[in-house]
Amino acid sequence: MDMKAVLKASEGPGVTRRCVPVPDPGPEEVLVRVKASAVCGTDLHIAQWNTWAQGAGIRLPLVMGHEFCGEVVGVWSRVRALGVGDYVAGETHLPCGACYQCRNGLQHICKNLKLFGIHRDGCFAEYATIPELCAYRLPATIPPRVAAMLEPLGTSLRAVLELNVGGSSVVVVGCGPIGLFAVASAKAMGASRVIGLDVRDERLVLAKRAGCDIVLDPRQPATADRILDATGGVGVDAIVEASGSAVALESAFQYLRKGGRCALVGLPSDPVRLNLGPDVVFKEATIIGIHGREMFRTWTRMLELLTCGLLVVEPVITHEMPLEQAEEALALLEAGKGGKVILVP
Ligand code: ZN
Repeated sequence: MDMKAVLKASEGPGVTRRCVPVPDPGPEEVLVRVKASAVCGTDLHIAQWNTWAQGAGIRLPLVMGHEFCGEVVGVWSRVRALGVGDYVAGETHLPCGACYQCRNGLQHICKNLKLFGIHRDGCFAEYATIPELCAYRLPATIPPRVAAMLEPLGTSLRAVLELNVGGSSVVVVGCGPIGLFAVASAKAMGASRVIGLDVRDERLVLAKRAGCDIVLDPRQPATADRILDATGGVGVDAIVEASGSAVALESAFQYLRKGGRCALVGLPSDPVRLNLGPDVVFKEATIIGIHGREMFRTWTRMLELLTCGLLVVEPVITHEMPLEQAEEALALLEAGKGGKVILVP
């Protein structure tokens, strides 16, 4: 049987829509009929075939896409906990299960980590296979358009959980989808004030909608002073860096309070210079890198927050289109337009 799929078929920019055979699940894998997928910046990098994509260990052709949800329609004999009919979302991080990290509760940063939709075929298709371990069972109350975004949402929630933001002021730098999810997560976890920074007006509107109390364009003069003013001159308790901009990260330490915490989620394309003396040592700042969700502690908390209604993420969705329009979806991302784009096969 064949299925519709969006592939990265060859080197150079562009993607290909093509019918390919429905994949067979391997041992300990499930076959999932995709209900919805979401488009991520990583997919754009692969489509553009930029320097990162060229060095990411991708073998072509590749079915693109890694954020999705769907219904289990086939299981291999060694699958134990899932069955046909289960509603699941995909965890992108595919751990080896044998390395030091995997054996010490850190499977999400497995030494031999493989990524779904990057190192093996992904979900911009009607069907996808995924290890049973990485298919997270969901309640039917989570709509597919939300369930498709749980992977990136979990990254943002993880950052917010690490920052322990209850009763705290938080700045979210960069209000693309990851930043917008961080805003919603910070509010859900009881942040007292959330300030969103972005250079695009459209995104600042989304940031307000996602729950920001204050939004600022960091290109305006005295942005740091305005944040200091808003915190009585003390500086903010916590920062989620979701822009990947070196300039933004360097300026963030101007308004992080002494003893403050900063979670890095954005990926700068080049090395960043920090003034470690004043910015980190004397400040006793805590900096933590976030590479995705803890497996599966973050997922458990995320589903708790979503099902009880504390975490609200629908405002982040700005486009929902058929899988056939994947190129248009990627073009929206390339133009920096909108929030999260959902594709329905
Ligand atoms: Zn491992």
